Amino acid sequence: MRPVVGIDLGGTKTAAALVAADGTLGVRAEAPTPAAEGPDAVLAVVAGLVARVAGETPIGGVGIGTAGIVDAAGRVISATETFTGWVGTDLVAGLSARLPRSVPIRVYNDVDAHLLGEAWCGAARGHSSVLMVAVGTGVGGALLIDGRLVRGAHGAAGEIGHVPAVGADGLRCPCGRYGHLEALAAGPSIARSYLLATGNSVDARGVLTLARRGDPDAAAVVRAAAVGLGRAIAGLVTTIDPSCVVIGGGVAEAGELWWRPLREAFRAELVAGFATPLVKAELGVAAAVLGAARGLFDDDEGALT
Ligand SMILES: [Zn+2]
Repeated sequence: MRPVVGIDLGGTKTAAALVAADGTLGVRAEAPTPAAEGPDAVLAVVAGLVARVAGETPIGGVGIGTAGIVDAAGRVISATETFTGWVGTDLVAGLSARLPRSVPIRVYNDVDAHLLGEAWCGAARGHSSVLMVAVGTGVGGALLIDGRLVRGAHGAAGEIGHVPAVGADGLRCPCGRYGHLEALAAGPSIARSYLLATGNSVDARGVLTLARRGDPDAAAVVRAAAVGLGRAIAGLVTTIDPSCVVIGGGVAEAGELWWRPLREAFRAELVAGFATPLVKAELGVAAAVLGAARGLFDDDEGALT
């Protein structure tokens, strides 16, 4: 089976790798993402990376995991302001036009790609129903049910960031509403809560460091973020019943200070009979590249079993 090029298209950089059918990573390359220059510039970079990692190797397709919400046909439905003119871009047509040969192209949201990677080769290996939660500059999510990636009517299935959350009352969410999980649990939200509590402007990493050093305000903020997240995840778990929850993103690197209250709140909220494990993502930056490539090895889109 021909290898596939997996692409992780992020707001600041784009990574690419040749991926074999057994999940082995071959040639890798990356480049800054010219997000502010518009879709043409971004697609030119993606096409250039495909050419660099494929070289003379015949490839079986290209899988892209991209920031923003995309539909199954590869059209961008919504994106952050980082990407100029990104909404409405047809990534399949745009990339096809820039490749020397016609190959199948699949496009996923980056968290969906991350989930597919972890379910294929990482922390959720062997699980066919998985909830992925990515906690970083935002709170994203993705859903695999019975071996199939679930996209939903708006490409947003599994996106847990905008559920009402315990402890988030009165906090403004980036979506413009109040009281959502992202307004409490994302990295910038942790920094903002600390600013509100103390008047001190420190980024999320700084708040975590202060909490580790025993700063009671920092510890309270981190704990509130973790507890709100744990309870929200428990609610989603009882609704969709995955066999495993994978937590990734920068905030998941916070250590036990954050993980312990997260696990405790999650366990306390779960109804009897659920023993769903909460595990840390393992593959780091490779996850989205692997996951984006994964679907090209199947006839059946997104199927892992
Ligand atoms: Zn929101």
